[in-house]
Amino acid sequence: MGKWHDKAAALQADGRAFIGGERVWAKSGQQFENLSPIDGRTLGMVARCDGVDVDIAVAAARAAFDDRRWAGKSPAQRKRVLIRFADLMQQNVEELALLETLDMGKPIKYSQSVDVGGAANCIRWYGEAIDKVYDEIAPTAANSLALITREPVGVVAAIVPWNYPMLMASWKIAPALAAGNSVVLKPSEKSPLTALRLAELALEAGVPSGVFNVLPGFGAEAGAALALHMDVDCIGFTGSTRVGKQIMQMAGQSNLKRAWTELGGKSANIVCADCPDLDAAVDAAIGSIFFNQGESCNAPSRLFVEESIKERFLEKALAKMPAYQPGDPLDENTVMGAIVDATQLKTVMGYIEAGHAGGARLLTGGKQARTDTGGYYIEPTLFDQVDSSMVIAREEIFGPVLSVLSFTDVQDAVRQANATPYGLHAAVWTSDLSKAIQTARALRAGTVHVNQYDGDDITVPFGGYKQSGNGRDKSLHAFDKYTELKTTWIQI
Ligand code: NAD
Repeated sequence: MGKWHDKAAALQADGRAFIGGERVWAKSGQQFENLSPIDGRTLGMVARCDGVDVDIAVAAARAAFDDRRWAGKSPAQRKRVLIRFADLMQQNVEELALLETLDMGKPIKYSQSVDVGGAANCIRWYGEAIDKVYDEIAPTAANSLALITREPVGVVAAIVPWNYPMLMASWKIAPALAAGNSVVLKPSEKSPLTALRLAELALEAGVPSGVFNVLPGFGAEAGAALALHMDVDCIGFTGSTRVGKQIMQMAGQSNLKRAWTELGGKSANIVCADCPDLDAAVDAAIGSIFFNQGESCNAPSRLFVEESIKERFLEKALAKMPAYQPGDPLDENTVMGAIVDATQLKTVMGYIEAGHAGGARLLTGGKQARTDTGGYYIEPTLFDQVDSSMVIAREEIFGPVLSVLSFTDVQDAVRQANATPYGLHAAVWTSDLSKAIQTARALRAGTVHVNQYDGDDITVPFGGYKQSGNGRDKSLHAFDKYTELKTTWIQI
């Protein structure tokens, strides 16, 4: 036992929704039990919101938008509040990180740095940015003035997944709130706790009541009611491609709300024989797929290694694997934690079976781990001799499973890399500058890395080509999603 176990034992998680500035249970009285994947402990009951609660929250958000209690503030005023919000997150880093780890299973050291640190940075960055965004005047005829201004869209619904609960929420709420919108956020039913706590901190920072509401609940209930709601102006969705397609349909069949999707991935990492630093390539390939237990949309789950260096590459990769054995998520030395729940564990183990059945060669891993804990853990798993037709090379696994494929020329690697409905991230490792740029151009992905895989900053857009979604989170471009452009003609 240690500090984090003591804190976990003392923790009282509040699973009530947050509507109009208050903690409330669902109108129906329905609740669901929230279990921790780290050991199966109960974290408490959570409000199971449905369409009735969605109506109430959307009405609260609409009222707050219409009376301009937030939209009517100057960008500099909203900036001050958002910076206070980020400060409060940082002051409560231990509590937020603990909630995230208990709810989702990730190692406590990453919950503090990546999740709380990243989410607070995101809120601060959009707060700092909003009073530096200027409107435009069009170059029209001399006797008129055409102003092009940005206005908040109105009521924004945000639906987010469980893999980075706070970070994914912050990528939506930060630009939406900075631009002056009201927000109704639905976190995943698998990890609702930090979003609810964020709403309390936002209120404490000065975000007026009704401007930021959080509704925990299930996708088919609260989620669908939001996507279908006639008074939601815009929906920002992060999750699976399957549900993303439903969101687009629901947006279209209701009020044609603006719908932005950030969806699944099957990212390709191409290592050429002229890779400038093989050790760095091995570290990045292994570190990136096993980070967050493989539960990252941009995980490089397909590793293409040029035939002539594959044996050497795999030897080095295998030597790294013991460092990624799953451990106690509440131990600060742990780098790989628990899989989010029993369903996801079953899905990932199913893919491992499919790898065997499809004829891939298991090099290491492939089994459950820490089975005596009551939690859900899977060994870091490496399959060699995978080809592009196999299920494990085609479908998003969302777990700690790396498929190794090979190639003899880089054009062939690009062809295979692009042979997927997804297009989120990709990478190429080579010392040849022309080859790097030509390959980066040929890869159909929203982000391409050259000689690295960890490029990440709030200043750059994040999103996919093809069925990895139609939007971009992060960077100043995210404001495009949460603002309307208005033209005002003035006779002069
Ligand atoms: P999911 O699609 O099952 O659920 C995502 C969210 O949608 C949850 O809040 C869920 O309750 C809700 N939902 C489910 N059904 C719904 C419906 N019918 N109507 C409205 N809402 C509904 O995805 P998940 O399992 O939570 O997350 C994993 C997926 O998210 C992976 O595919 C991953 O690649 C993707 N992801 C993408 C990004 C990105 O930026 N591109 C980032 C993180 C995760």
